[in-house]
Amino acid sequence: MALTGLQIFKLLPKTNCGECGVPTCLAFAMKLAARNAELAACPYASEEAKKTIGAASKPPIRLVKIGPPEREVAVGKEVVMFRHEKTFVHQTALAIAFPDDQPLSELSHHIAEAREYCLERAGEKLRLDLILVDNFSEAVEPFVRLVKATAGATGMGIILRSSNPEALEAALQAIEGQRPLIHAATPDSAETMAALALRYKAPLVARAATLDELAALTGRLAGLGVTDLVLDLPAENAGATLQYNTIIRKAALKGNVQPLGYPIINFVTAGDAASLVADACTFMCKYASVLVIDRLNYEVLLPLMMLRQNIYTDPQKPIQVEPKVYPIGEPGSDSPVLATTNFSLTYFLVSGEVEASGVPAHLVIVESEGMSVLTAWAAGKFSGAKVAAAVKASGLESQLKTRRLVIPGYVSQISGEVEEALPGWEVLVGPGEAADLGPFLKRQVGQ
Ligand code: SF4
Repeated sequence: MALTGLQIFKLLPKTNCGECGVPTCLAFAMKLAARNAELAACPYASEEAKKTIGAASKPPIRLVKIGPPEREVAVGKEVVMFRHEKTFVHQTALAIAFPDDQPLSELSHHIAEAREYCLERAGEKLRLDLILVDNFSEAVEPFVRLVKATAGATGMGIILRSSNPEALEAALQAIEGQRPLIHAATPDSAETMAALALRYKAPLVARAATLDELAALTGRLAGLGVTDLVLDLPAENAGATLQYNTIIRKAALKGNVQPLGYPIINFVTAGDAASLVADACTFMCKYASVLVIDRLNYEVLLPLMMLRQNIYTDPQKPIQVEPKVYPIGEPGSDSPVLATTNFSLTYFLVSGEVEASGVPAHLVIVESEGMSVLTAWAAGKFSGAKVAAAVKASGLESQLKTRRLVIPGYVSQISGEVEEALPGWEVLVGPGEAADLGPFLKRQVGQ
């Protein structure tokens, strides 16, 4: 049963030594209650505390690590049903599947593409996480050859999918120490697969036909000593998968059903790209920790990467850029000055459009606690006085012959205030959308 912060606090030493990483025992108790810390971080916890708090503060969904240390992927340890309640913790790991019944010569450039795939957005590099090697051939040799080639060429974590224990063991030996995810133990193969997982220290997928069978299977596997588990509950369609995922998450978080307290793996195999994206986005929102796509398709990956970045950004800590002046192109003393907020997405959209316009500019980023323009204005973080103060603090006034400042169109109402605070400046109201900045700059202030 879950304990409150105060119930936990009563069991702690109350010496406030800070060795657990937070300054007081009360703060640590609150973190334990929120399942954001583990009791092991307190070296002075009594045996009674360990017994009582240990189980209650255990993360309801186990953290599972997949892949070699240098490209390790962590999934699980989620504590909420909905992102706005707090945050989602470990983003969905995206995997591409390669079957071993195709010649390696045909697959090698796709493997290289998977390794190289990188989408840059809002200052982050978004990449694929895992490769699933599918033992379609059911033979040992082609499976091992593809596993070795894929692991060697990409350095990424591997999911080994096979029902042949001999093929799995040969592949596990070939990439020993790289912690591949083994797919899968079923009620019929639990002992054999558990032995492989333990021998090669690898996480294991538990796969069963019904929820009850799945819970019974994870209980058996845990009894055999395998606790790094991922759940696979096949469903007849996307709607059923969504339903199963939700039931599992709810059972783990709200019902404290420990046999279902593990990350989930889903497979997406829809025929056309639009259906594939729709299914994959649905599972990513609720609640796939590992999502396997059956083809490397850029029009599928783009929306998935963007959605994942949006979902897994902590809503309490918006991504921000440093408030300062950013030169775009090679701005000179006649170049325009633009001002906007330090919300990362705003910065990257504005700087990208200015760069694409070919009009060099000075971009002044105003400290606004990572809010977008309208939100920051409504919260008093992007007022005329703040914009003017940021421009003054930038030191640009002494460098410029022509003083033209462009403010975002959504806050045209602050233009008078900015003009008053910045005598000698011409204040222009720019477009509302960053996409219209290029034509605006060329028309109004192009050189
Ligand atoms: S390490 Fe233990 S005793 Fe020290 S502050 Fe943290 S909870 Fe309290």
